Amino acid sequence: MPIQRERLLGDFLELVRIPSPSLREGEVAQAIISKLKDIGAHVEVDDACNAIGGEHGNIIAKVGGSVKAPALLLNAHIDTVTPCENIVPVIESDCIRSDGTTVLGADDKAGVCVILEALRVLCEDKIAHGPIEVVLTVAEEIGLLGAKHLDYSRLSARCGFVFDGGAPVNKVVVAAPTQKNIRARIIGVASHAGVSPEKGVNAIVLASRAIAKMRLGRLDDETTANIGVIRGGRATNIVPDLVELEGEARSHNERKLDEQIEHMHSLLVAEAEGGGGKAEVEIELKYRSFSVGEDELPALVAKDAITRLGKSPLWKRGGGGSDANIFNERGIRSVIVSSAEQNAHMLSEFVCLSDMEEAVKLAIELVRSFAEFAKRGAIGG
Ligand SMILES: [Zn+2]
Repeated sequence: MPIQRERLLGDFLELVRIPSPSLREGEVAQAIISKLKDIGAHVEVDDACNAIGGEHGNIIAKVGGSVKAPALLLNAHIDTVTPCENIVPVIESDCIRSDGTTVLGADDKAGVCVILEALRVLCEDKIAHGPIEVVLTVAEEIGLLGAKHLDYSRLSARCGFVFDGGAPVNKVVVAAPTQKNIRARIIGVASHAGVSPEKGVNAIVLASRAIAKMRLGRLDDETTANIGVIRGGRATNIVPDLVELEGEARSHNERKLDEQIEHMHSLLVAEAEGGGGKAEVEIELKYRSFSVGEDELPALVAKDAITRLGKSPLWKRGGGGSDANIFNERGIRSVIVSSAEQNAHMLSEFVCLSDMEEAVKLAIELVRSFAEFAKRGAIGG
């Protein structure tokens, strides 16, 4: 299996040097599209950019199969978190990191490069496979916007692998929570803090009382909650009349999530009104949970592929949202596999080339295994 280490490294260095914060993926998208065309893929771009106000739509690249099988979806996202301007990749023996002033962008350009190299090897080695639908999304990092606005009518895959997980390469994320966000405006009454404080209602105090009573952090093995943003007040001599709060809760269990959101909501209202103010609260569903059983196709294929690499699968339940949440919601059963990145979203982010090569092997084995499952008639519909 001639995975070309230099080619993989070359792709990776080229792509991480192109800044691609969410909604500004135009330049990196062009570079990726030209590589996909060189591989011989049929490349389409949807118009998600219109809905989300971005530079570029999602890239959908189709590679025909040599065996009759349903299409298989392979996914990564092309945007990165910030700071991502002027990334200087530093190579230290086998591993690549940034110079410490930016992220590296291996999340998720490692995933993109793993998929590109796997496609090349599948083609060059004439490995039997069914049709492949590569979906490279935009704006994943700011709320899975690309996946949410993806033109699903262009796809037929019902099973997918999301290359957006950390090392080690045998890790498979088979479940992720539902997330709801809570936004609150705590409204008090402004007045002069020295002359007439008794006429005021201090919104900061009201918000503090509510937060102090909230259950936050890790609530149990499947539920978390956080207040992440607080804004309010103008000057020391004004009793503040407005505080804005932003928080979230996540759970693998929808009932627990709703109870937690209700707990946060009712405390905000009770403490605001109890203190003579009021609360305006908005709840937003960010994404729904998924859970893929070990007997379901993506898990069976992942287990088979990882076993072929001489490893055993490390099943994990994730704590965050990814494109896999949206694909599962849209009927494409998906799990998250490793793109080999480490310390995602940190300035210390890095990736080791030997891990990326393992991830390429994994991608190839996933495609090969999926085709074999299809041949055995193990894939319905
Ligand atoms: Zn990612």
